Amino acid sequence: MAVHIQGTGVSRRIAIGAATIILRGHINITHRHLQADKIPEEQHRYHQAIENAKKHLIAISSDLPGESPADIRTLINTQLLMLDDPALYQAPLEIIEKEFCNAEWALKQQHNSLLRVFENIEDTYLRARRDDITHIVNRIQRLLLQEASLSDMVTRIKDLSRQILVIDDIGPAELIAIHKRGIAGFITGFGGPLSHTAILARSLGIPAIFGVHGAQHLFEGGEFIIIDGERNTVIGSPDRHVLRWYRRKIQDYRDRQKALNRLRDQKAISLNGEVVELHANIELPDDIRLAKKSGCAGIGLLRTEYMFMNRENLPDEEEQYKAYRSMIRRMKGMPVTIRTLDLGADKQVDSGRNDVPLPVNPALGLRAIRLCLQDHDLFHTQLKAILRAAYGHNVRIMIPMITTLQEINNVKYHISYVKESLRHRGIKHAENVPVGTMIEVPAAAIMASNFAQQCDFLSIGTNDLIQYTLAIDRIDDSVSYLYDPLHPAILRLIKITLDTANSASIPVSMCGEMAGDSQYTRLLLGMGLREFSMQPSSLLQVKEIISQTDINQITHLTNETLSLSDSTAIRDLLAAINSTKLH
Ligand code: PEP
Ligand code: MG
Repeated sequence: MAVHIQGTGVSRRIAIGAATIILRGHINITHRHLQADKIPEEQHRYHQAIENAKKHLIAISSDLPGESPADIRTLINTQLLMLDDPALYQAPLEIIEKEFCNAEWALKQQHNSLLRVFENIEDTYLRARRDDITHIVNRIQRLLLQEASLSDMVTRIKDLSRQILVIDDIGPAELIAIHKRGIAGFITGFGGPLSHTAILARSLGIPAIFGVHGAQHLFEGGEFIIIDGERNTVIGSPDRHVLRWYRRKIQDYRDRQKALNRLRDQKAISLNGEVVELHANIELPDDIRLAKKSGCAGIGLLRTEYMFMNRENLPDEEEQYKAYRSMIRRMKGMPVTIRTLDLGADKQVDSGRNDVPLPVNPALGLRAIRLCLQDHDLFHTQLKAILRAAYGHNVRIMIPMITTLQEINNVKYHISYVKESLRHRGIKHAENVPVGTMIEVPAAAIMASNFAQQCDFLSIGTNDLIQYTLAIDRIDDSVSYLYDPLHPAILRLIKITLDTANSASIPVSMCGEMAGDSQYTRLLLGMGLREFSMQPSSLLQVKEIISQTDINQITHLTNETLSLSDSTAIRDLLAAINSTKLH
C-alpha cells in the first residue's frame, strides 16, 4: 500500500527510484578484554586492517586523474610509508598481546602515545605529520569497525542512477563525492532546506526531501519511491496510476526546460525596457559548464570553500590560482565575483584541521571572515591566488559574514599587504579589484550606508540574513517552518540595503536563495533589485518572469508590502502581484 510522508523539498524537482537505505554508525572505540587464546586472531584482524588500508590508498592513487595536484600523491605516499612503520604496524600488535585488549583499543593507546611525542613540537612541518598520523589512524579504525565512507557504500550499489538514497544526514562534501557517481535523488532524516547540502542539491539538480524523521525505518528498501519537491512529499510504494502521473510530470518538466532554453541567449529585459543582470552561483570548477549553459551574464557568487572539501590537505596558492584562473578564463570576459572562504558552521572541512575543536555554536562562531582574519596564512594564500588569477580580468572579491566596519578595514589592509608582497616578488596581479561585502547579518543591513562608503559593491545573502534576523538555525528542520523570506523584518532589511546602495551609486546584488525563487522575482524588481545571482537551474525561469513584467506597473504594490506587518498579508499581496497580467 502507498505511504505518503511529509518532509521539506529542497527544489521543485521530482524523482522516481528504488529505495536504498543507508545505515551508518558513529566511531565509538570501547575496550574489550580478550582471553589469551583470542590474541592471535585479534592480531590477525589488525594485520588485515593495515593491509586493507594500503590497498585502499593504492586504489585511490591509481584513480587520481592525471592533472591532480602533486601534493595529493605525496600525501598518499606518506600515508603508505606510515602504514609500513613499526610504530603503526608493530606496536599495536604488542599492546594487544601485553594488555589482552581489542585491536581498536590498542591502536587508540598507540595513537595517544604518538601524539604525546608531538605535543611540544612547534615546527609546522612536524605538526602536519602529527595530523597525517591521525588521519591514517582514523582510516584503520574505520576499517576495524568495518565502517565504510558514504562514497564507498554507494560504490557497491548497482544501477545507482535509479536509486533514491534514504539516509540520516549527509554533509555537503559527501554529497559532492556521491554526486559524481550519479543518484536519482535522496531523502534525509535531518536538515533544513537552506542548509548548504540543500543548496548544493539544488544547484547540482538532485531532487531531495529533507527532514523526514526516522526516514531509514519508514521504508523496506528496494520498493519504488517518488520524491515530490513541489508538494514536500515522499510517496512510498505508489500504485501504477500515481507512477504514471508522476512520470508525465517529469516529462512535462523536461519539455518546459527545453522551451525555456529559447531565452538562453537573450538579455533579461523587463517589459518597460530595464536591463536586469542575471548571474550564477557556483561551488566547484565544473559548475562553470552549468553556469554557461544557463545563459548567465557572469558569476555572482563563487563559493570557494567547496574546493577545500573532500581532501586531507589544504589547496596551496598555486592550486587555487590555477583553479580560479581556469574558471575566470572560461567565463570569457564576463564578471566573476569570488567570495573569500566561508568555512565553518555547516561547511566544515577535513583538510588536516581536525585538531580544531568544534565551536559551541558553529553558526555564531569563528566562521567565514572571522576565521580568515585570525588565520592569516589561510587568508593570504587565498588572496594571493585570487589577485594573481584576476590579472587582466573582470573579477570582484566578496567578503562573507561582515558585521563591523573594522572587519572591512582589516580585510582591505590584508589585501594591500598581499599586493605588496606580490609586487615585491615581481608577480603579476590585479591592482584594482573591486571589494564588496555580503549583507547577511542584520547589523550589516542596518549599517549598510556606512559599509557602502568603504565598499565597491554589496550583495545580499538572504540565507544567512534570514537565519540571523529570525534567530533560526538554517540547518535545523524543526524550526524550518519559521524560515520566512516574507517576514516584514526581512523585507525591510532588504529594502534598506537596496536603497542605500542605489543612492550611494554602488552596485548591489542578491545571491541568497531568495534571488532564484521565481515567486519573489517581481517583488524584488519592484523593491529596486537589478542584479540577481542564483543557482543556474533557476535562471531561465527568472528571466522569463522579468521579460513579462512592467516594473513601473507593480511598484505601488511592492511598496505596499513594506507597510504590512504580517507575512500572511504580504503573501496575499504577493499572489496579486504575481498574477497581475501585464501588457
Ligand atoms: C547567503 O547566506 O545567502 C549566502 C549566499 O551564503 P551561503 O548560503 O553560502 O551561506
Ligand atoms: Mg551566507
